[in-house]
Amino acid sequence: MDHFLYREGALWAEDVPVAEIAAQVGTPFYLYSTATLTRHFHLFDEALDWGPHLVCYAMKAASNQAILRTLAAEGAGMDVVSGGELARALAAGVPGERIVFSGVGKTDEEIHAALTAQIRQFNVESEPEMAAISRIASEMGVEAMIAIRVNPDVDAKTHAKIATGKSENKFGIPIARARDVYAQAAALPGLKVVGIDVHIGSQLTQLEPFELAYQKVAELTETLRADGHEISRLDLGGGLGIPYARSNEAPPLPTDYGKLIQRTVGHLGCEIEIEPGRLVAGNAGILVSKVIYLKNGEGRDFLILDGAMNDLIRPAMYEAHHDIIPVIEPEVGVEPQPYDIVGPVCESGDTFAKQRLMPPLGAGDLVAFRSAGAYGAVMSSEYNTRPLIPEVLVNGDQFAVIRPRPTFDEMINRDTIPEWL
Ligand SMILES: *Cc1c(COP(=O)(O)O)cnc(C)c1O
Repeated sequence: MDHFLYREGALWAEDVPVAEIAAQVGTPFYLYSTATLTRHFHLFDEALDWGPHLVCYAMKAASNQAILRTLAAEGAGMDVVSGGELARALAAGVPGERIVFSGVGKTDEEIHAALTAQIRQFNVESEPEMAAISRIASEMGVEAMIAIRVNPDVDAKTHAKIATGKSENKFGIPIARARDVYAQAAALPGLKVVGIDVHIGSQLTQLEPFELAYQKVAELTETLRADGHEISRLDLGGGLGIPYARSNEAPPLPTDYGKLIQRTVGHLGCEIEIEPGRLVAGNAGILVSKVIYLKNGEGRDFLILDGAMNDLIRPAMYEAHHDIIPVIEPEVGVEPQPYDIVGPVCESGDTFAKQRLMPPLGAGDLVAFRSAGAYGAVMSSEYNTRPLIPEVLVNGDQFAVIRPRPTFDEMINRDTIPEWL
């Protein structure tokens, strides 16, 4: 459920008409709903109410300071995957004790910064990384809390580019080697083993892969405890999918996911951490764009938008589907027509949808891409020297630009000219 609904014949974001924001901010832009963001966070939080837990929002999904502040104020922790994200989380006022640090390639500088911030936990992805954390923590005279990310060799049944839990993926330590690596961790200075971490992929639309992975984590917990390790936390990753095509998709609900967690690992008495990104932010954001031209091609009509693949790369990168809806509600009985919906970038990959049925549209009409809140703005680029588009946050009947559109001069002036030119 989200808060982008038709009202009085037009699309609203909470209590603000989308067209009003477009008139003020200009298109294209990302638009987020506070009510949807907080609702989704609380769905997860409540799904784990049966025991001690922390929901660490995977901020790579959407990392604007205003979004982070909104979620942090509700009690969210953050899952960060880079020094930049760590800095963003701290800048948004998230205390170190609510930050977990994931990612396969943490540098010395990033590890140092995380230890300085006294983060809650490193999710360690390899032995060399573990050695680096041990060395830096020892030099600093502190102790790093670690969980080791195990790779359970489970098929997440999702798009290959976002599956992370098979042995062929670069993530984590093969679960079969976990005992060895935990033994090494116990012997290294500057480390305190606190738990186990697992994350098998993103946009999972079934619970079964989670179930298989969490059963393996439960078994491993018992084994490691028998080996003398203190396993008090289980970080179960993110990955729960969202319905991108509302007409025919119904991924599992956070409530059922929470019950699955209770059933598979609840008896172990561990504090549970989860790292949802997409399900928190995905349906909390839309991309609003304007039709520049209606172009009649041979046997097909193109809607050429002012938004492009540099603004929303998911269709080009993952063959992702986004529902695209007109901002003016179509009248009942209007015959839909097939359009190819494209951006202006000089690549055929700059195609959002082929032969998509839409009510008749033309130049100047506004459309909204649904489910664009996660992996949208954060993956955008300035390809074709197109400015990063604004982000706007709605809260009830108020809205604010939370990242302005840069001017061309601002973009150009980031380049520096060498002396000899
Ligand atoms: C990307 C990622 C997440 C979030 O995944 P979603 O599908 O957005 O929920 C969580 N944890 C880790 C380690 C990740 O890499």
